[in-house]
Amino acid sequence: MKIYRQQPLIRPDLQAHIYSEALLSNVHNLKSLCPPRTKFCAVVKANAYGHGIAEIVNILKTADVDFFAVASIYEAIHIAHMVKNQSILILEPLAPGAPPDHISLCAKNGWHCVISSFEAVDFIARMLSGSKHILNLHVNVETGMGRCGLDPAESAALVAKIDQCPNTHLAGICTHFATADETDLTYAYQQLNTFNDFLAKNDLANREDTIIHAANSAATIKMPESHFDMVRCGISMYGYSSRPMADAPIALAPVMKLQAPVAGLKQIPAGHSVSYGRSFTTSRDTTVAIVPLGYADGYWRCFANKAKMLLGSHLVNVIGRVSMDQLLIDVTDIGDVAVGQMVTIIDNHHDSPCGVYALADLADTICYEILTCVHAHVNRIIH
Ligand SMILES: *Cc1c(COP(=O)(O)O)cnc(C)c1O
Repeated sequence: MKIYRQQPLIRPDLQAHIYSEALLSNVHNLKSLCPPRTKFCAVVKANAYGHGIAEIVNILKTADVDFFAVASIYEAIHIAHMVKNQSILILEPLAPGAPPDHISLCAKNGWHCVISSFEAVDFIARMLSGSKHILNLHVNVETGMGRCGLDPAESAALVAKIDQCPNTHLAGICTHFATADETDLTYAYQQLNTFNDFLAKNDLANREDTIIHAANSAATIKMPESHFDMVRCGISMYGYSSRPMADAPIALAPVMKLQAPVAGLKQIPAGHSVSYGRSFTTSRDTTVAIVPLGYADGYWRCFANKAKMLLGSHLVNVIGRVSMDQLLIDVTDIGDVAVGQMVTIIDNHHDSPCGVYALADLADTICYEILTCVHAHVNRIIH
């Protein structure tokens, strides 16, 4: 298979500070909610939720983490050389139409693959027949997520098929919650019941060498009955609840702070419009600082004239449209602004006016989307 290893473009001036201690303490606190032997699967898909997959794996590879979960085989290929003590779990179910060399690559490397179709097992059996390779499979049971799981009755048959095939091993059984982040957990507990019924009916709960797992971050925090053998945590590991929680049982510390320097300063007289579309007109003589970051770097266009940033301890307004790679802030009220001074664009405090929760609110989205948008060319600086 062709592996793309071009030198990536990195912008040194756009800086995502990654705080290792926050990440490690989040993992520790999440694990403290689970029984001691519960495995911990660190979800690092989507460039580790925008934090930088290589950087996050590098911090966690010596931590008390059992699995790294990625969305696709391409991410597994990308991090495999760094991962020695953990296993890699590929979340996207293996498709019967997958490139043939993907199957042997997964099997040879010992990667674990989610599966939810009979055809995919047939395909694996064909690809690996005659070899000594055994592929680790996790059956994804549909309990109410309504995405890519297989109905319980069919999942039982899939388990039997995996058991019969000499080149596959039933390494796990999993499901995924649709609403564990909501206040009303009725539906999530219905899903849990369906999953438990499936496990009991097919005598799967205590099989040696088969990991049962269901919980995402929200379920790890709010549904202790859903921990089983392993929890899969993404957003909480990066310091956020799926949605802000009033009475969170553990502390979660944001792992990333995004900064960029003031690239230029400009005096604009009262009564002039700024930036595309003339969406902002100065009402006074205004000192504007140009920040070399825009929607192409992951800072949403809809933040125009709404969002705040921090210059030192001063809160400043984003004025006018956010361009592709530039935006403007009003620094009139701040005495001594200098070119090169760092502006905090995404803060690492939950209640900050430029924190991820505040930005998600402004953009009418969830904190996942704000984080994952931070572009890969932003320079990750590890602390
Ligand atoms: C992304 C994902 C997770 C992690 O979800 P968080 O809410 O970020 O903890 C867990 N399981 C599966 C199957 C996922 O796709």
